[in-house]
Amino acid sequence: MIRMNAAQQGGVAHRILPRAGRAIAACSLFGAMAFGVSDAYGGDARTSFDGDEGGRSVFAGALRQASPALFKMLDEWSSFLEEAAAARPSAEELRASLALSEDYRGSFSHGPKPAEYQKYIVLHDTEGSADAASVISWWDASGNGVAAHFIVNKDGSIVQCVSLDEIAHHAGFGDTGHNAAFGVEDESRDDKVGTTPIGDWASDYGMNSYSIGIEMVHRGGEGDYPEEQLQSLDALIAYIDAYYGFKSEIIDHKAWRTGNSDTSPEFASYFANYKECRAHEAP
Ligand SMILES: [Zn+2]
Repeated sequence: MIRMNAAQQGGVAHRILPRAGRAIAACSLFGAMAFGVSDAYGGDARTSFDGDEGGRSVFAGALRQASPALFKMLDEWSSFLEEAAAARPSAEELRASLALSEDYRGSFSHGPKPAEYQKYIVLHDTEGSADAASVISWWDASGNGVAAHFIVNKDGSIVQCVSLDEIAHHAGFGDTGHNAAFGVEDESRDDKVGTTPIGDWASDYGMNSYSIGIEMVHRGGEGDYPEEQLQSLDALIAYIDAYYGFKSEIIDHKAWRTGNSDTSPEFASYFANYKECRAHEAP
């Protein structure tokens, strides 16, 4: 198992963050000294760097004389970057750590979603107690093409229904004006097969084209989410982040369409933590 628990992640952060602070200080000092040296030699520092060999050695010599400690700090910056890269599992490793199975159906994919269009992770509740397999069968039989990319069962097992590189119809129509508010105006990649307009108040359909949808098996009002389910959600979000190489904004479905029930009130404190630190518990 490669997945780090919260304590391990905290340990890595504790170890490398102070060094990151020193490294940033080193970079600031380096910048300040570069300007200082350029003044002393009557030209700009960049010209000295890019110019002849003599210019470079004069520049380097001045820096070494001025602060040997600077080079030590820059070495630390380099080793900090190496350690940070080594401590971060790859997307493949994170995916392999999930209790994940795949169940792709032809009716669930609605067009290409290249990485440059990824912006949001939308959290949903299934609003029922049926497990992922039953939900997927129901979706497929419905004929309206609805599905999310992932369903997280109460026991923490996950079923993926749609590739991360394809559009799924999980968010549906949002409030009129939300395409612009969320920066999801381009609906042209979505085939919109199976969609049915729900009224002038909710005419925007851009969110699916810019997001990953995650359903948690949960019915609002039935009590807390099991720890296994929340830990799986943590790990799934970490995998999605690693897959894209950036942190998508986490929203819940009702942010897109006012009046939706999901996610439920029981999720509110977890949702705040996901927004803040991308895990159900604050570190
Ligand atoms: Zn929903």
